[in-house]
Amino acid sequence: MTGFSVRRGRRAGEGRQRLHGIAVVVAVATLSCATVLAMNRQAARTGGPPPGERPRNVVLLIGDGMGDSEITIARNYSVGAAGRLAMDSLPMTGAYTTYALQEAAPDKIEYVTDSAASGTGWATGHKTSNGRIATSAGSTDVAPLATILELAQRAGYRTGDVTTAELTDATPAVLASHVNSRTCQGPADMASCDAYRKEHGGPGSIAEQQIDHHVDVLLGGGRSRFAQRITGGPHTGLMVLDSARQQGYAIVSNAAALKQSPPGRRLLGLFNDGNMTLEWGGAAAAAFPGSGPQSCVEHRRELTGEPSLAEMTARALDLLGARFFLQVEGASIDKQDHEASPCQQIGETVAFDRAVKVALDFARTHPETLVIVTADHAHTSQIVPVPQPGDKVRPGLFSTLLTKDGSLMTINYATRAGEIQDHTGAQVRIAAQGPMAERVLGVTDQTDLFRTMAAAMGIDVKSQSSNPKAQIPSSR
Ligand code: MG
Ligand code: ZN
Repeated sequence: MTGFSVRRGRRAGEGRQRLHGIAVVVAVATLSCATVLAMNRQAARTGGPPPGERPRNVVLLIGDGMGDSEITIARNYSVGAAGRLAMDSLPMTGAYTTYALQEAAPDKIEYVTDSAASGTGWATGHKTSNGRIATSAGSTDVAPLATILELAQRAGYRTGDVTTAELTDATPAVLASHVNSRTCQGPADMASCDAYRKEHGGPGSIAEQQIDHHVDVLLGGGRSRFAQRITGGPHTGLMVLDSARQQGYAIVSNAAALKQSPPGRRLLGLFNDGNMTLEWGGAAAAAFPGSGPQSCVEHRRELTGEPSLAEMTARALDLLGARFFLQVEGASIDKQDHEASPCQQIGETVAFDRAVKVALDFARTHPETLVIVTADHAHTSQIVPVPQPGDKVRPGLFSTLLTKDGSLMTINYATRAGEIQDHTGAQVRIAAQGPMAERVLGVTDQTDLFRTMAAAMGIDVKSQSSNPKAQIPSSR
């Protein structure tokens, strides 16, 4: 086991040196003198990482519900079957397992995870049950599992949490809050989380905890949760927004204000009362032979005043600067998969891919950045044969799309007879580039990602408290 680790480490070190060499040649060949000087100034200011050192930055990009089907559907539609998305360009690709635990019997497996349990996996290194936010399956105590964001903060990293969902939705929540139910998003939503209420001495709702965690950059939807009033502790009666202001946050609510947001201050960007506006429109899938053939409609984003996920990502990277941990979520891939709405699902996947491109562009000038692109769980949509005249009725909902290739592609949603489709339990892609990217190769588990990110930031996770029952042994 130890010998294996040492061999891995040596190979990884050699790979890094080669990559650094390539990076230098590319930089000299293509960058202007001014850019190189600016980079040198930046390196001098921040101390600059010596070659071969661990990365200073980790950018984790999560496509919620973005299984291999969803990636392939978006690729076929937007760039053609032989085309490649930005997320396809990451050099190291593996798969990871996403299963959860059963709440009533935490030593038993739940094969289909939700976003709360899966997010808790990479956020804390521990498996949990569906619906839980960074807390242990079956546990009634309020003792939290330490998260990668909390550990990064303790190690002196700046932190950011960006999403197209409500900021208090499960995927962003797992980084900076601990609660037994994902439904407890604001102080008025605490019916399922009594022990966590502030008036009972608990840490409060997800919104309150995210602010109290002093995450440097928080961007997404969910304004209405932060407009609820706090019901215990020193800020009783204040809206969570006011508590944020008192704790040093600048608050912005549209794309223009985000661009001009003050550097050097904590930033809370809330751009919609609920989830952020979808990028694309189109007909939902319907009973056989389904809707379409259709081409999707791109909404005019400038009319909403909301920033795109790519714009939020770019601003977060600007503000965080160097030595940071940032999570970026494309949330509505999942939500539109549930709705059996292929155009909306693809539009969100394409928008997520643009955010990936922003992170990869950042990494080009900041090669000490580990970029990881993955999903939290697989989902319903499948590419199936195009319905033909005379076909027997097939199960589920269908829509046929005219793709970039000029061909027809039929998408099927059939995990439920009703409208709201289910997650599925297949492993999903995890891809990475930058130092330590090789740790995603092969088949790993979601909880291994926690250890990869911790190692990338030089955080010793062996010293962290752990619940051995809930911890899955590392394969690395
Ligand atoms: Mg999510
Ligand atoms: Zn979902």
